Amino acid sequence: MEIKKGIAVSPGISIAKAVVVDSEDYRIPRRTVTPSRRIIEIQRLRNAFKEAINELTGQDAFQNEMAQKNVKDIFAVHLRFLRDRSLRKKITDIIQSESVTAEYAVSTTLRDIAAHFSKVSDTYISERAADIYDIERRLLKHLLGRTRENIDHLTDEVVIVARELSPTQTAGFNKDFVKGLATDAGGRTSHSAIVARSLGIPAVVALEDLTETVRGGDIVIVDGNRGIVIVNPDHETIAQYRDYSQEFLKLEHRLDGLREKPAVTRDGVRIKLLGNIEFPDEAEIVLEKGGDGIGLYRTEFLYLNSPTEPTEEDHYKAYAETVSVFKHRPIVIRTLDLGADKYTQSKRFAPEPNPFLGLRSIRFCLQNLEMFKIQLRAILRASVLGEVKIMFPLITNIQELMQAKMILRDVMEDLDEESIKYNRDLPIGIMVETPSAALTAASLARDVDFFSIGTNDLTQYTLAVDRGNELVSTLYSSVDPAVLRLIRTVIQDANKARIDISVCGEMASDPESVMLLLGMGVRTLSLASPMLPEIKQIIRSVTIEECNTLARKVLTLNSERQISSYLRDAARKILPEAF
Ligand code: PEP
Ligand code: MG
Repeated sequence: MEIKKGIAVSPGISIAKAVVVDSEDYRIPRRTVTPSRRIIEIQRLRNAFKEAINELTGQDAFQNEMAQKNVKDIFAVHLRFLRDRSLRKKITDIIQSESVTAEYAVSTTLRDIAAHFSKVSDTYISERAADIYDIERRLLKHLLGRTRENIDHLTDEVVIVARELSPTQTAGFNKDFVKGLATDAGGRTSHSAIVARSLGIPAVVALEDLTETVRGGDIVIVDGNRGIVIVNPDHETIAQYRDYSQEFLKLEHRLDGLREKPAVTRDGVRIKLLGNIEFPDEAEIVLEKGGDGIGLYRTEFLYLNSPTEPTEEDHYKAYAETVSVFKHRPIVIRTLDLGADKYTQSKRFAPEPNPFLGLRSIRFCLQNLEMFKIQLRAILRASVLGEVKIMFPLITNIQELMQAKMILRDVMEDLDEESIKYNRDLPIGIMVETPSAALTAASLARDVDFFSIGTNDLTQYTLAVDRGNELVSTLYSSVDPAVLRLIRTVIQDANKARIDISVCGEMASDPESVMLLLGMGVRTLSLASPMLPEIKQIIRSVTIEECNTLARKVLTLNSERQISSYLRDAARKILPEAF
């Protein structure tokens, strides 16, 4: 049994067999074994070769007389490699001499051969590199258990273990079978973590070398509440976790009972609790969890699982579906926030050296006007169906805001010409998620109807800490005094300008930060739906006076450590069972 500590990013407990997911550019970690284990590794290697050969000779395409000749040729080449004794000997020698696992020996040998082939100028030979990678994948599949290729066809419950998961991969998991996620990399506000939370899959990230410890088929416990992953737990630990999981489910059940009750403090102040969503079908879940509307619709997720750009109709259908769930309640549609860790890196461009400081979000839209206008048309068309608002992300200066608004007006004119209806008075807001926007909030406030503070990016940019990098995750904190000062400024400037202000970053769903945000004057929070009941419970347990006192005290503290421990103590007193 091995216990690993990481960062809890999505609550809940799961106990299931591990599936280790590889990623194309990820090497199998070098893992050594004891000398006595070498013989077992060599046997595993033999079995993997045998199974790979059986698989290939059993392939329909290979057997089928009608199969295309080139497919048969490819399989024949693969078989020749797999039957090549010198290849197997080479891999066996590495296991023997370096005392490493079979998967490491396979991966390192085949990748060396592939690299060698790809350098040869004869194209017939250089193209064989792809075959070698294919053979590597095939052997690894037999060594590691199921890999990414057949994650789409799961038939029983699993925990996915990976070095790193992209938001696209995470969003593609089948919730019925994927019961937990555990990754070496990542941070609390990385987008994959956000997707896991919105799907309600327990997840722990920043486990550093978990993939070196787990093999496909190992039993793994993911404790998404405490940020712990246990590999091959003993019977006693499994029994303890089963009990704990039951207790947690009971608490969740009890909190779900709050659905019909308002989010109102003990001294009668009504707080608006909205949901953050990534996919249209999540709107129903927000409603089920008692949300008052949608405070952040991350529309870039329309780009997920789709090899082509969404059309205006795709956008419109997604928005109309969401509006139909919340007809008379607010829905804040955020324009595309592509870039950085969201897709454009792999889909469109040569990688940027600093993607989070590069062409992302509103900057990307302003340079891709055709794509931007398609989305704006769809949002405007959906605006007649309900209480739709539009929000521009990552605004860093007034010119950007003016430009975005000008393009919105152009699109309105186009719709006028085509006699297509839209809400001319659709509220326009921005995300305040860069220090520059926070520091110029007073001037930006004159040109918008609302602000929503994106604490995920605001924290990243204020503290110069990558939100998804586990190596600096201890430096990433939204309650750092520098971040809190910016948040306070934005709230004050919004209040002076009499525009609406909300918080939609992950800080709004952090039970330890809620009292502080209320005490700083926030009355609208937008958060992942699974957290809505717990946050409502906290709101219903406090008075605004208590929150004000707490915020006054916190703003006098000058270290993150003092602030977080002060907030933890306060939260524990209010909802002990949640901690
Ligand atoms: C944020 O940055 O706080 C935010 C809500 O946006 P995202 O997490 O999608 O970047
Ligand atoms: Mg953001």
